[in-house]
Amino acid sequence: MNQRSCKALVIGAGPGGYVAAIRAGQLGLDTIVVEAERPGGTCLNIGCIPSKALIHAAEEFESAKHRAETNALGISASAPTIDLARTIAWKDGIVQRLTGGVSGLLRKAKVTTIHGTAKFRDGRTVEVTTAEGVEIIKPEHTIIATGSAAVELPFLPFGGKVMSSTEALALTEVPKSLVVVGGGYIGLELGTAFAKFGAQVTIVEAAGKILPQYDSELTRPVAARLAHLGVEVMTGTKAKGLSPDGAGLVVTQADGTELTLPADKILVTVGRRPRADGLGLEAMGVTMERGAIRIDERCRTSMRGLYAIGDVTGEPMLAHRAMAQGEMVADIIAGENRVWDKIAIPAVCFTDPEIVSVGLSPDEAKAAGHDVVFGHFPFQANGRAMSVEREDGFVRIVARKSDHLVLGVQAVGAGVSELSSGFALALEMGARLEDIAGTIHTHPTRGEVVQEAALKALGRALHI
Ligand code: FAD
Ligand code: NAD
Repeated sequence: MNQRSCKALVIGAGPGGYVAAIRAGQLGLDTIVVEAERPGGTCLNIGCIPSKALIHAAEEFESAKHRAETNALGISASAPTIDLARTIAWKDGIVQRLTGGVSGLLRKAKVTTIHGTAKFRDGRTVEVTTAEGVEIIKPEHTIIATGSAAVELPFLPFGGKVMSSTEALALTEVPKSLVVVGGGYIGLELGTAFAKFGAQVTIVEAAGKILPQYDSELTRPVAARLAHLGVEVMTGTKAKGLSPDGAGLVVTQADGTELTLPADKILVTVGRRPRADGLGLEAMGVTMERGAIRIDERCRTSMRGLYAIGDVTGEPMLAHRAMAQGEMVADIIAGENRVWDKIAIPAVCFTDPEIVSVGLSPDEAKAAGHDVVFGHFPFQANGRAMSVEREDGFVRIVARKSDHLVLGVQAVGAGVSELSSGFALALEMGARLEDIAGTIHTHPTRGEVVQEAALKALGRALHI
């Protein structure tokens, strides 16, 4: 049995783990990363990147269909067709380029990568099962970055026509009818994409509205676009299981009515759960909280020398949070005095239009006891939005009344995901409304709406 020691062992090479390993390697730490499947984790292989590729292809297809139906811009085109197998092959090419890139970065940082499944024997010993046999690693510090897995409904197990996002991202034919269970991030992102590809999509959401984590003002333009795309949204509705003949999904509405929705495919997206089982943590007495590994502000677990980052530590399950934690923990292991001091973790939902939320919404700011002012400015009054035919949505800035410190920025609109980093920068730098209002924003861009929202909060908007 092979045995080795190292300074830092990272379990899982998703965005949390691979960033931690690269930074640890760059800092000169003797680092090993163990990955059971493919480098890049959920994010690069079956999550963020493949879903955004599919969303882009669907947008292109929808736009081509739109051009074929109207020549308002003077462009005439014939009706496009979709070969989803080729779309998926194109998406897989992007995934391969990125995962290959991660392997290269790990090598460049002198990190040893082991392809295998890790499990703790005890707090200081990790056993890795590889194709060649079992390896024993004795690390000084271990970072658990094992991510998350799709939640499976016991009455609607994955298999056959019931898919998780992983199978949905590998479909080679557009289903005629698709029922999506769960109108959250994944359900709406992928449901919208398949509707654009031509599937008849129904979204079944248990809560009273889609994307319950965002306020109604932000989700309203998304609901309007779903209706325009012919997507049926059933809120206050719960899935019960497949119909006896297997042809459809039985659901119960809030008033108790039971319905069967015909479905060629059923996509279940009711959340993700931390992947902490099977590591042997229970025997070590590591403190858990609702299935997630509990961490402090330095990503330390309850056991000395053991850190956890990313989805395995619970919400918010976002790739950029995992990466930021990974970078911080590597620095800490190298002896730097770092602590999680981020003011905001931006959240973007890649629906159509996109939604961005950074920091506090007006209601959250009020609930936190702040006296607030806010500015709300629509894309309807923005030249760039008009010239790209997308005037739906707005930017909203929330600031403290006393000193105008920006507490939150939200937006909904086409392409607003690209504005999110600027919103986060404003919050991290402690911007005041006057800082945003006084910054020259390039014309003509959608970003001008951010400046106008700040001016509006100050009572001096110019273009409305
Ligand atoms: P993961 O990426 O899950 O990586 C964990 C890795 O650990 C995996 O490669 C796994 O094989 C490995 N592993 C697990 N157990 C072991 C073991 N015992 N031994 C060895 N290796 C092990 N987030 C965003 O921020 N933006 C988005 O647009 C976005 N879109 C998404 C779309 C979809 C469809 C999905 C499913 C998720 C999306 N996410 C998005 C969430 C994002 O993918 C996760 O937050 C992110 O991947 C978490 O990173 P991680 O490093 O914690 O874990
Ligand atoms: P989610 O938490 O976003 O949404 C799940 C939805 O399912 C909720 O609206 C919930 O009310 C509903 N639901 C739960 N049980 C139900 C039932 N029995 N019947 C009907 N509806 C039910 O979860 P998700 O969409 O699976 O995504 C998982 C996580 O992945 C997200 O929380 C997010 O952290 C991450 N993600 C992020 C992005 C992004 O950043 N753009 C994209 C995709 C995924």
